[in-house]
Formats: sequence, structure tokens, C-alpha cells
Amino acid sequence: MDLIGHLINGQLNTDHTRTQPVYNPSTGEHSKNVAIASKTTVEHAIAAAEAAFPEWRDTPVIKRARVMFKFKELLEQNADQICALIGQEHGKIVHDAAGELQRGIENVEYACSAPEFLKGEFSKNVGPSIDSWSEFQPLGVVAGITPFNFPAMVPLWMFPMAIVCGNTFVLKPSEKDPSSTLFIAQLLKEAGLPDGVMNVVNGDKEAVDTLLYDKRVQAVSFVGSTAIAEYIYQTATSTGKRCQALGGAKNHAIVMPDADIDNVVSSLLGAAFGSSGERCMALSVAIAVGDEIADLMISKLSDAIRKLQYGAFSDKTNDFGPVITAQHKAKVVGYIDSAEQQGATIVVDGRNAAPQGYENGFYVGATLIDQVTPDMISYKEEIFGPVLQVMRVKTMQQAMDLIDNHEYGNGTCIYTRDGEAARYFSDHIKVGMVGINVPLPVPVAYHSFGGWKRSLFGDLYAYGPDGARFYTRRKTITQRWPTANVREGAQFSMPTLN
Ligand code: NAD
Repeated sequence: MDLIGHLINGQLNTDHTRTQPVYNPSTGEHSKNVAIASKTTVEHAIAAAEAAFPEWRDTPVIKRARVMFKFKELLEQNADQICALIGQEHGKIVHDAAGELQRGIENVEYACSAPEFLKGEFSKNVGPSIDSWSEFQPLGVVAGITPFNFPAMVPLWMFPMAIVCGNTFVLKPSEKDPSSTLFIAQLLKEAGLPDGVMNVVNGDKEAVDTLLYDKRVQAVSFVGSTAIAEYIYQTATSTGKRCQALGGAKNHAIVMPDADIDNVVSSLLGAAFGSSGERCMALSVAIAVGDEIADLMISKLSDAIRKLQYGAFSDKTNDFGPVITAQHKAKVVGYIDSAEQQGATIVVDGRNAAPQGYENGFYVGATLIDQVTPDMISYKEEIFGPVLQVMRVKTMQQAMDLIDNHEYGNGTCIYTRDGEAARYFSDHIKVGMVGINVPLPVPVAYHSFGGWKRSLFGDLYAYGPDGARFYTRRKTITQRWPTANVREGAQFSMPTLN
């Protein structure tokens, strides 16, 4: 059986003390194993990144950007293979994998503009014959730790930007679906990246902790569940590192009485059930303002949901695939059980899903739950499965209060035809990414991505302009070249222009 290993200093190796099974979620089959790196293996990767840093840091930025240009071309040329690897280990349908990869490639395109965004800031004559400028220098060795649900896109949020800024990188991808990430990293070598600039170690907590505590690592980017994000942020910052840790979510849509209901239904279907709901931006709660729109929405949604097709990743006619593991399926089913026990109405029940020919896959069918209330466990916690919960309120303010009182604040959306309501909502809601009749408001690569409250620990968003700031350190230089006629005596007061 294939053993998925690491990429250290440009070489693949399978050093391990333990291995862990990797599944094909579509069939439930144990298809590969992944090498779990020991502390020593991770330290080799950090050492390789540290050794590669001085030369890479001093490589002209246009040359670093050219590697990214070539890398983008290689990602496009190898897209079919990357999407197949994503499908085999994650289970998402190939067209969804292609969307994920395209979103990742857009981050590489943005990284190609590094000569522009690293130009810095310059002010001439801040004082007599004195010039001052700020430049943005790389940090050194930086690390990324990524989740299973976007094995291509989320790593691509991180390392192209880090590397083009002159850093060297150690990535610890999810051990649940590591192959596409490792394959993508190997393309960088073909794109001309020197060995040691990009390293990948597969592993678990031991590998992560090694990255968190090693003094050579200057910064850590994390994306995953909130419990781990909080741990990563606290540990990394306590060891003096810069850290951004993006966590979980509970994304609400407000459906106003004047919304275009057919648009709401079709857009909720994709946003709630696409990728089996395993997206941190999945819309998992629809709050209907008024019983009339709630009843209409439930009726139209339940008809549409029963027509959804789910099954193996390779069948393009499917709308979504399985969830990631048998354990995760049990967890999602457990949330549906708990909602039922706490008094919600299961309108469409996906608990007994078993597509023909794929009975052993990790499937949960699309599930619609009505009459959900804020005290329910299924509402308080992130389900991360194909489950859409409906809540009913009387006013828009009640809907906004629900959203503001939830511990997560990643994404949200309002469906309305009323510009005033939409403007008030986007201005006041305590959420980081807001859609107005747009269900998945994932910012494009030249903006930045992040949530509020317990969806993000750290000050800067991921990728885009915030990514460039996260992976660089500002240095401000003030310069004068004394000549005979501007030479001054000692000055003991704070220099000013008065
Ligand atoms: P996870 O937190 O289980 O794992 C994420 C990473 O942390 C993996 O690389 C994993 O190996 C590592 N890890 C797991 N346990 C650890 C521990 N005890 N100590 C140190 N490291 C550990 O998350 P997941 O299940 O892979 O991904 C799903 C979660 O990620 C969801 O909560 C989802 O909302 C979130 N997510 C958030 C965003 C965002 O941008 N906010 C994007 C994608 C996913």
C-alpha cells in the first residue's frame, strides 16, 4: 500500500515512527497510509528551511515572482491530477475540486504581483536633506498548518505569499488527505524554486508542537477548528511567534420577507450542501423573518433537496460527495439526533444515506431541520456536514441579534430586495465576511479572508494585502548624507521641523 511521506530539502522521504490510514471516503476503503513525522523529522525540515533562507531572501523579488508565474502554469497543466487526488482522499466531486484549485491558483496570481506590493513607502525630505522609507522584509522560516477540507486551496492561501515575500516554509497539511498537497509542493521544484525553500511534513500533534516550540520558526499560520486554533495561537504567541489562526464557523443567512424566494432556495442549496457542508463558509443556518416566508422556503427547499444527488467524487452529475471519515459521519448524525431530541423538526432526513454501489462510503444525505432554537447543541456547535437548520424570528433585528450572539463570526448573508436593510445589516453585523444576496462571500485573492470573534485569533486576515503584511516585517529607514554645509552640532531635544 502507498505510503505518503514528506518533502524536505527538495527530496521526498517517508521517515516515520508511526503511520496513519488514509481513506477513500467515496468507497470507505483504506487506500493509503501517511507517514507521521517525529520531532526529529520536523527539525530536519526546519533546518533545511533555515539553511535556504539567506540566499532566497536576497533573490530579487522579480525572480521570486517568476517562480510563481511558472508554478501557476504547472498547477493549470496538472489540474486533472490534482483534482483526482483531492477527490480520492477528500471525496469532493471533481467539479468542486476544480473550483477549489482555481481559487488557490488566484492566490498564486496575486503573489506574482509581489514586485508591486513589496515596493515599500518613500518620503523625500522629511527633514533638511533627510529621506525616509519603509521596506517590508521577510521573517525567515515560517510554518503553515492546514485542515482537511481544502487540501489545495488553504495551503495555497499561505505558502505562495510567504515564499514570494522571501521567507522559507514548512507546511504541515492535514493527515486525512495529504496527497494533493504534497503533489502541489513538488511542482514548485519544477517551477525553479531552490531546495529547502518549501518543505512539507506530514504528521499530527507532535509535528505541530515541534513547529510551535522551535525557536527558528518565526511565524505560524493555522486554519482548522476553533479549539485547535486557540491552542495554536496561545502557544505560538507565548513562544514569541507571530500567529494567525483561523477557526470554525456557524454561518447564518437572513431571509427577509421581500427576498426572491426562488433565488434564495437555489443559492442556499449550493451554499449549505456543496462539498457536503464541509466548508468554513458553508451557510448552515437560515433565519426566516416571518412565518410566511419560512413556510414557503421550507416547502420549496424540501422539494429541491430531495432531488439532490450525492455519491462518488468521480461522477460529475453528483451535487456533493461523502464526508471525510466514518467518525465524522457519526458526529454529523449525532448532531441531527440531538436536534430531534431537543424538539426540532427533521423535514428531510439524510441519516440513512447509502448511495447504490457505495454503501460503505461515508455519506450523509442532505438534511433540513426546522424549528431550531438557540439552546440546541446542533445550533451552538459547528456541524460541518450537509445539514441546513432553519430558525424563525419576527424581525430583522432579532435575526441580527442571533448572529451577533453566536460565538463564531466567519461569514453571513442577507437575502433581500431592500437596499436600506442590506446596508444596515452589512454596516452593523459582527461578522468578518458579509454577502448581500451572495451566499458564499469568500473574498477574492486580492482582498483578504478572515472572521470575527472565535473564528479568527490574530490581527491580520489570511492572504491578499493582509497576507503580505503577515509574512513581512516593516523596517523604516531614515537617511541623511552629511555635507560640509549641513553638518550640525549635537542636538539634545527631540528632532522636529519647528
Ligand atoms: P482540525 O482542527 O482537526 O485540524 C487542522 C490541523 O490541525 C490539521 O493539520 C491537524 O493535523 C492539526 N491538529 C489536529 N489536532 C491537533 C492538536 N491536538 N494539536 C495540534 N494540531 C492538531 O480541523 P479539520 O477537521 O482538519 O478542518 C475542519 C475545521 O477547519 C472546521 O472547524 C472548519 O470550520 C475549519 N476551517 C476554517 C477555515 C477558515 O478559514 N476559518 C477554513 C477551512 C476550515
